[in-house]
Amino acid sequence: QFRRARRLDPIEVSEILTIGAKAAEMKREGAPVIILGAGEPDFDTPEHIKEAAAAAMRAGETKYTALGGTLALRQAIQAKFQRDNGLDYALDEIVAGTGAKEILFDAFMASLNPGDEVIVPTPYWTSYSDIIRIAGGEPVLVPCGDDTGFRLTADRLEAAITPRTRWLLLNSPSNPAGVGYSAADYQPLLEVLLRHPDVWLMADDMYEHITYGSFEFATPAQVEPRLKDRVLTVNGVSKAYAMTGWRLGYAGGPKALIDAMKVVQSQSTSHPSSISQAAAVAALNGPQAVLAERRDSFQARRDLVVEALNAMEGITCPVPEGAFYTFANCAGLLGKRTPEGQVLETDADFCAYLLDQHHVAVVPGRAFGISPYFRISYATSEAELREALSRIGGAVAALR
Ligand code: PLP
Repeated sequence: QFRRARRLDPIEVSEILTIGAKAAEMKREGAPVIILGAGEPDFDTPEHIKEAAAAAMRAGETKYTALGGTLALRQAIQAKFQRDNGLDYALDEIVAGTGAKEILFDAFMASLNPGDEVIVPTPYWTSYSDIIRIAGGEPVLVPCGDDTGFRLTADRLEAAITPRTRWLLLNSPSNPAGVGYSAADYQPLLEVLLRHPDVWLMADDMYEHITYGSFEFATPAQVEPRLKDRVLTVNGVSKAYAMTGWRLGYAGGPKALIDAMKVVQSQSTSHPSSISQAAAVAALNGPQAVLAERRDSFQARRDLVVEALNAMEGITCPVPEGAFYTFANCAGLLGKRTPEGQVLETDADFCAYLLDQHHVAVVPGRAFGISPYFRISYATSEAELREALSRIGGAVAALR
């Protein structure tokens, strides 16, 4: 009989995946389900990136590469950090992995001992808490709801720090709230960290290139250079270049940490796929105009979704600065009754009602550690979004 490792006891199956699987199953059975759950751009990977991968394959770049990524890739990452962020990382301060997910995993495996704490402002991307737990650490979830604009405040950070705190994990623009920290938003938090020299900072900049309006992206190691020797700057090509399936993420940080992360990588993946590495070189070194085009398209969809949600009674949705998610409050719907006679008690009840009765899949705030909210991923066509919003509107109007 199979006996599961105790290490997995505190790990939950991601609710995003369960909802996605249920929606896909309903679709297979013929229901016209619209899935607004997945966190990936609907665009295709740009042609010049695919071409670079094909060329690499034909040229025989199909063998093991260096641990942490090829020289060409690390040079492209180095140039990216200089160009976009004004950050100078040496080549041995850079590591590439199989998605930013591996980078986060390697970093926590390389740095956490049992009982070590990682401060995670909540709502947070679902995987953070479980990656930290698998690595033996304790996520310290600090609620930051719409009362703080979904942002961590200096007071809440200070209050969460203990002698066991090893990391603060920040994500801007964020999944699921789409909230961005400007340089001014970061400043008070970084000042707290300056007073706590043992606390390191992991900055997940995955959605750097998907920002809107006047919001200006900033990254902590650039905003506060005095912290650079304890910041890991994490990024990847998945969202910016619509390359989720290529599995390529990267980070810049202090050499001692990068070396320890490479030890973890050497005994797990060895390195990301050689072909994906060649594709990422083309993405990072190639024409960047595609980023602005896609940003404009995402912004039009954001506006469509936010406006429609705010017109629904019982739902309030702040305007996100970035990423491709809305995170709306649905407190005004709780306690109401569906036409089928069910009283909605939680955000998960509302999301199940949307999926079962109206065939729209969205994810409850619960999956991101905070309720009552729901996340829409609007990285889908405007036509599908309009149809989904009309169904959500109908579902809300039918509540009594
Ligand atoms: N960080 C955030 C905030 C994300 O939303 C995701 C993906 O959903 C990732 C990291 C991981 O990206 P990948 O492993 O595809 O590079």
